[in-house]
Amino acid sequence: MTGPEPKQRRVGGASAPILAIERITKRYGTLTALEDVSLTVNRGEVVCLIGPSGSGKSTLLRCANALETLDGGRILFEGREVHASDPKSARAVRQRMGMVFQNFELFPHLTVLRNVAIGPATVLRLDRGAAERRARALLAKVGLSDKAAAHPAALSGGQQQRVAIARALAMEPALMLFDEPTSALDPETVGEVLSVMKALADEGMTMVVVTHEMDFARRVGDWVVVFDKGRVIEEGPPKQIFETTTVARTREFLSHLGWHGESTLDTAASSSSEAAQHPIDKEEVDR
Ligand code: ADP
Ligand code: MG
Repeated sequence: MTGPEPKQRRVGGASAPILAIERITKRYGTLTALEDVSLTVNRGEVVCLIGPSGSGKSTLLRCANALETLDGGRILFEGREVHASDPKSARAVRQRMGMVFQNFELFPHLTVLRNVAIGPATVLRLDRGAAERRARALLAKVGLSDKAAAHPAALSGGQQQRVAIARALAMEPALMLFDEPTSALDPETVGEVLSVMKALADEGMTMVVVTHEMDFARRVGDWVVVFDKGRVIEEGPPKQIFETTTVARTREFLSHLGWHGESTLDTAASSSSEAAQHPIDKEEVDR
């Protein structure tokens, strides 16, 4: 093959995007949280959103999930415009879009099984047996079959987050949104959550992931979008963002996180404690 690799090639880019965010603006009073932000997510793609705290990443997910009204622009999900102020539209969107938050937000008074089964039972109107069968299958998938009868408080943060992922999957979403899913976790449980997310990505789940886990973004992400002060300052394949960026603010942000152009997992330091905390299988993830 001759010539450089095409820079903008994206997974599923030939068909209509599942999510199209078109020049949206979002204000809170006088504060502009998002300004003229556009972003597309194709089916089967893992899009990672990175950038400093306060740059608008969570706001973007909330807008996509019909939790916020817009001050400009529009959002199309599966070809239909998202109207957060229309309860019917908002409900339809949230049924097809799973969201996983930093703080899990499980129901503390329900068992793990009921936490996962309640969506299918109430929203999708599956009978209790069918809802619980689906929940058990998903708990097995996230490695928590033995915790079905436990209450969330008895679980570690990493386990609770895996339940939250199973709960979102129970609705059989077309798109999963993750908002810093490992930020609130003890370091020793980060890896188990990232592994579950990677397995989902490998199955072809379409995902938008806000994360500070740069190894995950680089290895699992198909496309990386960099936010700063409510704007997208750069987007591209991981290689561009993590290895060849010429955008000064991207470089600054990455070096602030301790990223210096190559993964710690690539170097002789691969047995370091950081690598041990993030046991994403290297060979499998490299593409
Ligand atoms: P990030 O997720 O990148 O850290 P956010 O999307 O949470 O950033 O926030 C973007 C900006 O919007 C920040 O300045 C934040 O303080 C502000 N903001 C977010 N949510 C609200 C809200 N509900 N009310 C007022 N300001 C908000
Ligand atoms: Mg946030």
